[in-house]
Amino acid sequence: MSLRYGRALLKLSGEALMGRESSGVSAEVLRRMVSELKSARDMGAQLALVCGGGNIVRGESFAAGMGIDRVTADYMGMLATVINGMALRSALLESGVEARLQTALNLEQAAAPYIREKAIRHLEAGRIVIFAGGTGNPFFTTDTAASLRAAEVGAEALLKATKVDGVYSGDPESDPRARKYSRLTFDDAIGRKLRVMDATALTLCRDRGMPIHVFNMNRRGALTAILRGEDEGTLVEAA
Ligand code: UDP
Repeated sequence: MSLRYGRALLKLSGEALMGRESSGVSAEVLRRMVSELKSARDMGAQLALVCGGGNIVRGESFAAGMGIDRVTADYMGMLATVINGMALRSALLESGVEARLQTALNLEQAAAPYIREKAIRHLEAGRIVIFAGGTGNPFFTTDTAASLRAAEVGAEALLKATKVDGVYSGDPESDPRARKYSRLTFDDAIGRKLRVMDATALTLCRDRGMPIHVFNMNRRGALTAILRGEDEGTLVEAA
């Protein structure tokens, strides 16, 4: 089957992994993710994943609310992404999907270190590679880690999974007039401060010419539809 994207990086936020639970990782979301990822892999797509950690620790709010210094709170956030990554890796392996977890922080008993060349070899061998630990640096986000890793491993697109069908002109959950964009330019997204990803992540994607698809991960088949080149969610690309 010919694919629009032979290699893509999927960004999954901690909140997405939480599903309807009030914290942690939802078993239902894990099952659904595994099934979507399996279908994508079976189509022949090479998939990398970056997971967030906001379901467990978000550095900025943790630091403000608890009297913890920001850098420590950010390291806690990065560790949270490793917890999510371990859950994803295990759920994939238990379902017979070959997966590897690499982390930007040194945690050798729990996960392999991030080594770009090895990650690319795993992708070429059809294994799903999960990148955890963010960028390994405080003051960044996992959206930025996603754009960075996507550029490093030569992904052809960054796929940002969210709870809504794409990027809207307002909050579709509270504003009935909010309309969905099917296509945006990077400059629109950055200039109009549309909540696609943070500005650092968007700028990196723009400079690398890497398209971003924002889509609803709760829609069955959405991931494979994007990989095949069908219209799904919002596409952010160069003008
Ligand atoms: N984080 C960090 N550096 C990074 C990536 C993440 O310090 O390169 C920390 C930061 O505190 C952040 C937390 O990890 O709030 C969880 O990541 P993020 O908020 O991006 O997760 P998501 O919103 O995708 O669940």
